[in-house]
Amino acid sequence: MASKKLIVLGSVNADHVLQVDSFPRPGETVTGHGYKVLPGGKGANQAVAAARLGGEVGFVACVGDDDFGSRMIKAFRDDGMDTRAVMAVPDMPTGVALIQVAANGENSIAIAAEANASLTVEALEQHLEYLGGAGMLLMQLESPIETVELAARTVASAGGKVVLNPAPAQPLSDDLLFNLAMITPNETEAEVLTGVTVSDEDSARQAADILHGKGIETVIITLGAQGAYCSGPDGAQLITGFSVKATDTTAAGDTFNGGLVVALQEGKAMDDAIRFAHAAAAISVTRLGAQTSIPNRGEVEEFLT
Ligand code: ADP
Repeated sequence: MASKKLIVLGSVNADHVLQVDSFPRPGETVTGHGYKVLPGGKGANQAVAAARLGGEVGFVACVGDDDFGSRMIKAFRDDGMDTRAVMAVPDMPTGVALIQVAANGENSIAIAAEANASLTVEALEQHLEYLGGAGMLLMQLESPIETVELAARTVASAGGKVVLNPAPAQPLSDDLLFNLAMITPNETEAEVLTGVTVSDEDSARQAADILHGKGIETVIITLGAQGAYCSGPDGAQLITGFSVKATDTTAAGDTFNGGLVVALQEGKAMDDAIRFAHAAAAISVTRLGAQTSIPNRGEVEEFLT
């Protein structure tokens, strides 16, 4: 019997954010303002969401041996996470995202994996026993794909459930898909994985059926403000989200995934777990930033009453 431990494996990034009036053209310099360095990375966002939303979370990741990396490890501990498998890589910077936000709200983003690329198969091999104790493992695709594949194999063969949020979008091997208990693409990611353009309940059903055909028991396709389409052993339905005034949808999907796995680990029924995840994500879109926008459990419970 697998333990109840929830493990998240994934990336840690320093998001360097600068507001500009308009993006510089090649060769041009523009003056920006409001420079901030904010904690990001899909792995860290989802681990922080799961921890704030009530999960007992272990995080597997690599940071650099720089100031940002050590501040992140401390912040993860402050959020109550088990950081024994967060590795500081010598002579490497923490992963980075350079984000320009234009006055019209558009983003232009360049990212570099840096220390995240050191989460190799060899690095993971030091933590296989720890990983094998996961009741549930949540991953994304900002880590080396061979590492994601090995982690999925390890947890699935030990009887744990593997949940993949397949972001950023990329095609995946049948071997990886076969080891998943659940996959949670957004519309774009679902299209990359299945070839079906997903925009509503009908197209989501077609995409979900293709993913079931790859051996995945539960498919949840998030549809932004529309909610999420869930197809699994108990049937298929569109579960609508909460209507809020959206300020910044950064990390909405990450908050949704963190909330979903926590609720499922607690034994909530699938539709209740999705409503809990919708509530957490809805609160996050009313606030700026990635990890800065993620609510805690009390805020979600209050929102739901
Ligand atoms: P991603 O951020 O990965 O692109 P989505 O945009 O599909 O993912 O959003 C994930 C979840 O976040 C949705 O299922 C919903 O719960 C919530 N969400 C996203 N946008 C909004 C919004 N404008 N209003 C309320 N909830 C939202």
